[in-house]
Amino acid sequence: MKDTIGFNTKMLHALASYGQREILPQISQVSAFSYESMEELERVFAHKSMGYAYTRIGNPTLAAFEQKINSLEGGIGAISTSSGMAAISAAILNVCESGDEIIVGRGLYGGTIDLFHDLAKLGIHTICARDINDKDELEGLITDRTKLIFSELISNPSLMVLDIPAVSEIAHAHKLPLFVDSTTATPYIATPLSLGADVVIHSTSKYINGGGNSIGGIIVDGGKFAWDFEKFGALSEFKKYGKMAFLLRLRTDLWENLGGCMSPMNAYLSYIGAETLGLRMERICCNADKLAHALDEEKDITVNYLTLPTHPYHGYVDKELKGFGGGILSFRAGSKERAFKIINSLKYGLIASNIGDLRTLVIHPASTLYIHSGKEETQAAGVFDDTIRVSVGIEDPEDLINDFREAIKAADNG
Ligand code: PLP
Repeated sequence: MKDTIGFNTKMLHALASYGQREILPQISQVSAFSYESMEELERVFAHKSMGYAYTRIGNPTLAAFEQKINSLEGGIGAISTSSGMAAISAAILNVCESGDEIIVGRGLYGGTIDLFHDLAKLGIHTICARDINDKDELEGLITDRTKLIFSELISNPSLMVLDIPAVSEIAHAHKLPLFVDSTTATPYIATPLSLGADVVIHSTSKYINGGGNSIGGIIVDGGKFAWDFEKFGALSEFKKYGKMAFLLRLRTDLWENLGGCMSPMNAYLSYIGAETLGLRMERICCNADKLAHALDEEKDITVNYLTLPTHPYHGYVDKELKGFGGGILSFRAGSKERAFKIINSLKYGLIASNIGDLRTLVIHPASTLYIHSGKEETQAAGVFDDTIRVSVGIEDPEDLINDFREAIKAADNG
């Protein structure tokens, strides 16, 4: 099929080829696969013939989901994982060893920041750039020990946007790969590999699944990065695979051994969810834009959303995000007490620790997601004591706007 077809058509028609008359992949909810002879299973284990042996290593339902997301991102292959955090951990550990350094962007998801503390205990240190898009700053942070650059495309919840073309150019000039967590952007809004990134990671628990019914993650390899096997010792055993080394080490070694596979049922649910990603993102982004503008008119409320013309990263909306601002917005209420009152007064904004659901979800990030982070890290992530994060859903926009207006009124009167 031609590449000129639209996102939704491609999602539904270009990728489904299950041979039979099934319009969806089967759910292979099994732990293992049996064979006619021991010789056959031996060949599968030795990668001499195609086949599945054990779901932690591979499974047809996982493969269907991986192929769908890989195709949307334009990679050479993808590996699904038990969660977004499992995807980030496996991708980093696939190339980093004790003594290595990672340069990361600011304003990252709290769980990722917590992971960096765990990695530090293994001797893998993270250097946080004040502004990762600043060429001089980034170049100044790169040392002989740097192994990769990592950032979120649209950081959650600070909404800083990674300048992928600019940052990847610097990374590649220093023979470093750029890993991008594109969870909040989704393949509908941006395809980081086409902009210069080398590896794309998603928490599929969010927008890709969309229905809030499965935790999962995925790593997509762009397959273009020329690994220097002297520098990247972790990949040296896979040298003969050249540009495929990252993916093959993950698939046949690290990911398999870490044991963080996605469950077949979750892969099936996420596969179905992904099919409406385009429609959902269109509606979610439109709702977020309307809600952000409505909140911006409220007294003593400071809104953080990319399509507001005053937003410091507004220029990236057209440059990198196809005109969309994403589904997350945050606003400052003036005090923690007012923030809690507003949250508690909402009818449709559900108090829940997730993003990317069909339903609008709200949370006070300082007292939840950033509870383990220090004050400086939390504020660098755009989270203050009075910040409310909103993951906008697909409700009717008038109802959402009214809900927030009424909640603010109730908070101020009560
Ligand atoms: N990356 C981002 C940007 C996230 O927002 C999250 C979770 O909120 C994760 C990664 C972790 O994903 P998971 O909860 O699926 O482990």
